[in-house]
Amino acid sequence: MSQQAKTVQKNRTARTSGLKPDDQIVITGAGGFIGGALARYFHDQGFTRIRAVDKKPLPRWYQHVPGVESLCLDVSQEDNCRSVCEGAVEVYNLAADMGGMGFIERFRIECLRSILINTHMIEAAWRGGAQRYFYSSSACAYNTELQKDPHCRALKESDAYPAMAERGYGWEKLMSEMFCQEYWAERGMRTAIARFHNVYGPFGTWDGGREKAPAAICRKVIEAKDSGRHTIEIWGDGTQTRSFMYIDDCTLGIDLITHCDELIATPINLGSNELIAINDLVSIAEEIGGIKLKRTYDPTAPKGVAGRNSDNTMIQRILGWQPSTPFREGLAKTYAWIAQQYADRKAGKRTVKDEA
Ligand code: NAD
Repeated sequence: MSQQAKTVQKNRTARTSGLKPDDQIVITGAGGFIGGALARYFHDQGFTRIRAVDKKPLPRWYQHVPGVESLCLDVSQEDNCRSVCEGAVEVYNLAADMGGMGFIERFRIECLRSILINTHMIEAAWRGGAQRYFYSSSACAYNTELQKDPHCRALKESDAYPAMAERGYGWEKLMSEMFCQEYWAERGMRTAIARFHNVYGPFGTWDGGREKAPAAICRKVIEAKDSGRHTIEIWGDGTQTRSFMYIDDCTLGIDLITHCDELIATPINLGSNELIAINDLVSIAEEIGGIKLKRTYDPTAPKGVAGRNSDNTMIQRILGWQPSTPFREGLAKTYAWIAQQYADRKAGKRTVKDEA
């Protein structure tokens, strides 16, 4: 039996938690990367009443999952949240105005305004009688003072306090986590909070300004091959380090964390602990693309903290599991998907794209 299968057997998931196949599941941000993947995940698990919500017009959703009710609504507005949460048994809030470093360093106000989304969604979920509420937090909630060295130690859950989160985006996450903790403490609604560390994979943003490093680097390698200009521009000096989690680990992790009673209202890392320097990411993407490029560096470009990794001691202790897709394997799948998107766009077909 595979490690994943053993983990699922040992832990409670939506399927084994008592949730009925026709119980109403609500997913916000479902027109985006992780929300879209989660809608597909629950659909594939046999759940038949999934309500997917996003403010983007339907033709711009990254994935359309058959049989899923898809609503185009802005969940920063209270009324919309109430109708979205009607009859919901479980609510997964993944809506946020966000992107890679290029977006979150430039648009701090937009990031902060996502506080409205969680504030209204959690209240509506509670009023609607939801049994479980999931919130997607981020490693950007961690104290930035601990991330000034590319070889800094991995971040453990207690490192969020004393707080000095990433300006804008990180503080919004920290405040929204607190809402989740208090809705459990004061009102008894079971909440779950995962701090994602850089998620990547097919059906993610790959162009337009919101994309993250793995997708951006894959695209640049593909562009260089296509154009014949064999150079690549890297943001910063390339020594920044991160860990990257493959999307399939993320959706399974969300399910396991949400249905674990030991983790109610307890922020937990959901990330890989395979640390990769951006220069190494470029080398892996070049290897996959079968090309070697001349590198140029832009020291003025947004680059975020110097180093960040996920300490997985807590998730391993509680769930006996951690995200484990090897980066090279996940990146090869992502590269192949982006190459197809690139070819489709060239051929004038519709692709996954978001403007910053
Ligand atoms: P994404 O941008 O692909 O998806 C977010 C979706 O939310 C978008 O489709 C957007 O249109 C929608 N949205 C924004 N404001 C909305 C509103 N007011 N009403 C309805 N929909 C709205 O991002 P993602 O990568 O799928 O991220 C999902 C969640 O995970 C976010 O909360 C994000 O902060 C968090 N997260 C993601 C990562 C990552 O690496 N992708 C890392 C840490 C945390």
